[in-house]
Amino acid sequence: MIVVLLGPPGVGKGTQGMLISKYLHIPLISTGDLLRGEVREQTNLGKIAKSFMDKGELVSDDLIIEMIKKRIRRKDCAEGFILDGFPRTLSQAKSLENMFLRDNLQLDAVLLFDVPEEEIIRRLTGRRVCEKCGAVYHVSYNPPHKEGICDRCGGKLITRDDDNEETVRRRIVVYQDATAPLISFYKKQDRLYTIDGVGKVEEIFERAKNVLKKLNGYN
Ligand code: AMP
Repeated sequence: MIVVLLGPPGVGKGTQGMLISKYLHIPLISTGDLLRGEVREQTNLGKIAKSFMDKGELVSDDLIIEMIKKRIRRKDCAEGFILDGFPRTLSQAKSLENMFLRDNLQLDAVLLFDVPEEEIIRRLTGRRVCEKCGAVYHVSYNPPHKEGICDRCGGKLITRDDDNEETVRRRIVVYQDATAPLISFYKKQDRLYTIDGVGKVEEIFERAKNVLKKLNGYN
């Protein structure tokens, strides 16, 4: 199954993506995580990407498309994959369609997570992520058992460089301008499923699962 997770930053795509990945036994591919990996390893791509990421701006389509092309052609994607943070522009969505055409693949569903803007800002400014495994926490809504330490792998929890209020607001504007047009793009293709992203993590996952079950006959 091939699933795209859509929605502004902070709606829980990463958290839900991890749960869906376990449920469907297919990898979660987050372009943000891939880029943060490049930044950590100080690759050329990482060096170019960092300045855009720190400002809340998008990295150029060409670089992102090259990166995603390589990733989805890896063996672990043979049974499908979940995309988080890609596509983020119409041009990326069209390139993805072309990739799928060439590789004879088909996009099954686009899950759009819906959360009010003020809630998004609260979530992102309190968000902490594990620098090792990428697990996501929140200082009040979903704290780890031991402060600053990941429950899953014992890694260190950090605040992302772009999770400060100014950059968060910019990222939301960029989402509205560049990414929100994808909603009507996928609606027209009859592939869009809107999921209420407010509530407990498990409740939201249930909603996502219900959509996937209907599509696929999964239990
Ligand atoms: P995310 O972790 O998805 O919030 O992404 C963090 C940052 O990485 C974004 O604010 C962008 O600077 C960059 N980024 C991630 N995915 C993309 C993409 N598909 N296109 C352009 N830039 C991206």
